[in-house]
Amino acid sequence: MHHTGPFDRTVDVVVLGLGDAGAVAAVTAHDAGAEVLVVEKQQAAGHRPNSRYAAGFFLVPEDLEGAVAYLSAMYAVNGELSTVDPALIRAWAEEAAANPAWLDRHGGTYVKMNIHGEHPSLPGHESIRVYKAQPSGSPEGYTGCPMHGFLRGLIAERAIEVRYGTAARWLLTDAAGAVVGVETECDGQVRRIGVRRGVVLAVGGYESSERLKRQYLPISPAHFYGTEHNTGDGITMAIEAGAELWHMNVWPGHFVARFPGGGYTGGTGIDLWGSGRFGPPDDVRAPGSIFVDGTARRFIREPGRQHAANLELLAMDADSLTYPRIPTWWIFDQERFERATLVPTYSGPAGPVGDYTWSEDNVAELREGWIQSAGSVKELAVVCGLDPAALERTVARYNEHCANGVDADFGRDPVTLTPLGGDRYYAVPLWPGGSHTVGGPRRDANARVASIRGGSISHLYSAGELGSLHGLLYPTGGGSIAECLAFGRIAGRNAAADRVGGS
Ligand SMILES: Cc1cc2nc3c(=O)[nH]c(=O)nc-3n(C[C@H](O)[C@H](O)[C@H](O)COP(=O)(O)OP(=O)(O)OC[C@H]3O[C@@H](n4cnc5c(N)ncnc54)[C@H](O)[C@@H]3O)c2cc1C
Repeated sequence: MHHTGPFDRTVDVVVLGLGDAGAVAAVTAHDAGAEVLVVEKQQAAGHRPNSRYAAGFFLVPEDLEGAVAYLSAMYAVNGELSTVDPALIRAWAEEAAANPAWLDRHGGTYVKMNIHGEHPSLPGHESIRVYKAQPSGSPEGYTGCPMHGFLRGLIAERAIEVRYGTAARWLLTDAAGAVVGVETECDGQVRRIGVRRGVVLAVGGYESSERLKRQYLPISPAHFYGTEHNTGDGITMAIEAGAELWHMNVWPGHFVARFPGGGYTGGTGIDLWGSGRFGPPDDVRAPGSIFVDGTARRFIREPGRQHAANLELLAMDADSLTYPRIPTWWIFDQERFERATLVPTYSGPAGPVGDYTWSEDNVAELREGWIQSAGSVKELAVVCGLDPAALERTVARYNEHCANGVDADFGRDPVTLTPLGGDRYYAVPLWPGGSHTVGGPRRDANARVASIRGGSISHLYSAGELGSLHGLLYPTGGGSIAECLAFGRIAGRNAAADRVGGS
């Protein structure tokens, strides 16, 4: 929005949004000597950005050239590579590789996991390693992802000013289109805040805007399981300021369950084998569990790629004009039902943030009618509206694969080939969705926001999942937090070094 006239207040750097990206940008700009103001839409009490729901994984490129090759190969899958500046790929690899050292310097703690790039068919996948944040330095009473708690501790230590309950509405621009401030609204009061150095946009994605999801994602409905407050405000602000958008029609996704009640406003991830993680348990055998489509057939090597299974759900039958895999049915037996909670309790709405307390034995949720159940495979099919004979055939064939120790149809990991059996069967419908969207303003290697007219918008920076550099494919668990830290730092230090009007 073109602005002339005075500001209500002027600071060096305004950071919009207090997730991991905003927190790191604010800390970095502050430590570079800038006066920083953070503007956060949510109230302080109960402030829940996606960063707080997260599990705390962050990837680390352990070999720079390998990581560059891996990200480049991911971009090449849908032909996007030719449009991506190689400097951006390198900046990501170098800065994300520096995350552990930055955490060490600031008192953050983490452990290394034995997890690498998610796409082993691509070069360089083994050069990515997943780390996991451990609790350190969180403010008292904080619950949620330890990485976010730690970053909130850094904000508090520095007494960086955070204006909670204040929504950024518009970016303010001068006659040449350079960003010179931001218009905010708090309790109906509109204020215009000027900047001497720059603005960092870090307000998250559009996972809670039904309108934007319908308009941009390739499928509807798509359910997400984080904050309700990421309503795509950054996209509106960026478009109005003349930004180029990217990655609006893709997202890292998986099968998402939806329980319309309790604390579940969106959806939730599922725990296929009750292992407390994405893969099967190490020490005990995996219980019987499969996915079937609307024709009651299996269609995927369960559990599917962790952040690309959504792509498999999109397969449309263009003759019948239906999406046979939406919903997908998760079919499991009594052993799985009794093994552990059906949803993760280490992150998400049933995790430490405590939006919903899932019963340990799943019985309360069964009583809610969220889980279908029957005494035989045939009866279960009837309850779910599936073809009973087809589901019986599918289960019999899957059980045959288990007996042979080889999944002749989809090549599923043999350690997970446990037959479905017993005298009770269960089903839960699953939808496309995931943890977060990645669309938003395109950023460059310096975290500057690209202008639709070429070049970048002066004094405007971005970080985090809003306009993430991750597109069709996601590198592996921890891609987003690694980017929040890396581009939060790049945005924070470049904003702090910028000068509005060359002052
Ligand atoms: C259950 C779950 C588990 C996940 N686990 C992982 C993981 O282990 N590793 C990983 O890498 N990623 C994970 N992710 C994804 C990751 O958490 C997010 O993508 C990342 O934290 C986003 O950080 P952010 O700072 O960009 O946005 P957020 O953390 O969502 O912060 C954005 C902030 O901006 C505020 N805001 C919005 N609009 C405005 C406005 N107009 N004005 C002012 N403020 C505004 C919001 O209220 C919010 O506080 C997970 C996500 C979920 C939901």
